[in-house]
Amino acid sequence: MGSAILELKQIERSYRQGADRLTILQDADFSLTPGEMVALVAPSGAGKSTLLHLAGLLESPDAGEIIIGGKACGRLSDDARTAIRRNEIGFVYQFHHLLPEFTAEENVMIPQLVTGMAPAEAKIRALQLLDYLRVGHRASHRPTELSGGEQQRVAIARAVANAPRILLADEPTGNLDPVTAGYVFDALEALVRQSGLAALIATHNHDLARRMDRVVTLEGGKVIPFKH
Ligand code: ADP
Repeated sequence: MGSAILELKQIERSYRQGADRLTILQDADFSLTPGEMVALVAPSGAGKSTLLHLAGLLESPDAGEIIIGGKACGRLSDDARTAIRRNEIGFVYQFHHLLPEFTAEENVMIPQLVTGMAPAEAKIRALQLLDYLRVGHRASHRPTELSGGEQQRVAIARAVANAPRILLADEPTGNLDPVTAGYVFDALEALVRQSGLAALIATHNHDLARRMDRVVTLEGGKVIPFKH
């Protein structure tokens, strides 16, 4: 798998629980190649968020290595990790986490401005992404004026604003009714397929999971293929 964009190798992660340690991941291996969409399906508390946070360099493993674009990232400084996260990784969460005082368009511009993009260019890209995700007509609205599905579309546009190579999503449709969830997933899937992004998407929705290229789960601290 020389072409993997994301590799987790022999990852260990445990949390302290009183006097004990709660082991979440142990010898966990996983890799993701460009253009691949992988579903992560596991019960609550199994460690899905932990895995996504590790893959997104938001947390550090106790042991093992996280390799992004061929570069070992586990032991980089906080600044170096932040730079990689900003340029290479997009996140979508169950709740949109849009900034309430800014419009949809501004929410998609902000991550671009942080990387030094000129405002005029950031605005053009924000509008293109919002159009692509079919919320262009809501660009000047604030998050509270948008429906749940629209908020998630904007959150997806924001996640890919800096053209990351990896998209990590934690229950991105978990807060939506099934019909809206289907439409939002359609938009997310089209974007991933069109852009060649690599996506790891935690979901409880087995219908959506089946539409992805692979489904994995967590068992005994390892990432293994999910058996239907
Ligand atoms: P999931 O996303 O599959 O629901 P999580 O990765 O959120 O699972 O959590 C896995 C387990 O690790 C849970 O038992 C949770 O309580 C525990 N956990 C997660 N984060 C922490 C933390 N920062 N400190 C202590 N325990 C944690």
